[in-house]
Amino acid sequence: MGNGKPPAARRGGSRRRPRRESALLWWALFAAIAGIAWWQHSWRVALLGLLAWCLYEFALVPTLCRVLTPKGAACTERTRGRLFACGPAHQRLRNDALWRLAGIRNPFQQGPVHDEGEPGTVVVVSSDVRGRLVPQDRALIILASAGTLTALVGMVYGFR
Ligand SMILES: [Zn+2]
Repeated sequence: MGNGKPPAARRGGSRRRPRRESALLWWALFAAIAGIAWWQHSWRVALLGLLAWCLYEFALVPTLCRVLTPKGAACTERTRGRLFACGPAHQRLRNDALWRLAGIRNPFQQGPVHDEGEPGTVVVVSSDVRGRLVPQDRALIILASAGTLTALVGMVYGFR
């Protein structure tokens, strides 16, 4: 016993922390749930994990807004969850895109959407630009929807 080591001073250091947790942390959590389900041979834990993953993709994943602006570039504001955009204007575009993904015209659509491209100018977003999702988002939203359905059906059958 001595005073050789300064207590816990080296941990973390002075490295700057990112503002948000890494997606790896979430994946580690889901891997742990999958591991427990496998180890316990518990399909209930597996279903719960699946449901948690779907919720995560919908509402919690640290991602970017990625609404396409009139110039075709994707918005790079940070958001949380693939269903959500950075602000009210982009959220409306995103809602339209989600309705379109479901094959339904947005029943709450409120006329043309204005998007402020540059300060001072207001550009009306054309109908073929609005309602587009980045392929990665589209794929994961479809996957998460399928996962939610699977989990719900599994629960209905499992807890009967
Ligand atoms: Zn945005």
